[in-house]
Amino acid sequence: MGYMLETRGLRKRYGRGGDVQEAVADVGLHIQEGEVYGLLGPNGAGKSTTLKMICGMLRPTAGEILFAGHAWRREDLYSIGSLIEEAPLYPNLTARENLRVRATLLGLSDERIDEVLSTVDLLGVGDKRAGRFSMGMKQRLGLALALLPRPRLLVLDEPTNGLDPIGIEELRDQIRGFAAAGTTVLVSSHILSEVQQMADSVGIIYRGHLAYEDRLNPGEDLEALFMDVCREGRRSGGEVAA
Ligand code: ATP
Repeated sequence: MGYMLETRGLRKRYGRGGDVQEAVADVGLHIQEGEVYGLLGPNGAGKSTTLKMICGMLRPTAGEILFAGHAWRREDLYSIGSLIEEAPLYPNLTARENLRVRATLLGLSDERIDEVLSTVDLLGVGDKRAGRFSMGMKQRLGLALALLPRPRLLVLDEPTNGLDPIGIEELRDQIRGFAAAGTTVLVSSHILSEVQQMADSVGIIYRGHLAYEDRLNPGEDLEALFMDVCREGRRSGGEVAA
């Protein structure tokens, strides 16, 4: 099966001159169509930077991104839904109006707005202003925005932030559901138990390098694996200044 997303030697340097920070030094991801891929790594490892490059929010310093087998191009963003850091919301607009702005840009019907509101369980508060939403509700609305165009690839950066335990469980089930319906999901998380339950494959970034990537076998101890990869990275010195 072909890859929905592949990166080759992806690199990102922030800053210039003497103040250079190599946040991503060598990341080669292989993400198959229809799978849930969990991207893990300690704080500052380079996960968000990698996801931002995939979603066109940052330009790579070097390397390649391939989407559905071709070199990544701007138009691919119509097929990539993302929720990275804070959801991009207009606080003075209602949830439904926030979605309508995006739907209009994408040429989608109002019907789709109600569908995604229902998916994220916000149908009852669709007419409430986003600025008055709780953190978890804002996350849900951000997810609804990402889902609007029925993306082929959904990129979620720590999507459980702000969600209550029930919300976390629901999101996990939803992510499995998206994958079952054919959407590829790339999700970063620090909650290893959640990733263990929902991911088909995992990649572990350590100091800007993809230190591990493989299918996740049922019953595999992800926490032990994660600790081993990080310990090994630390022992070998990790070539990148964090
Ligand atoms: P976390 O798990 O804490 O969210 P992360 O794996 O997502 O971390 P990144 O946010 O990608 O890590 O950051 C990787 C490195 O790049 C860090 O050392 C960080 O300080 C640095 N960095 C991130 N954004 C910038 C920026 N805009 N300018 C300079 N350095 C940055």
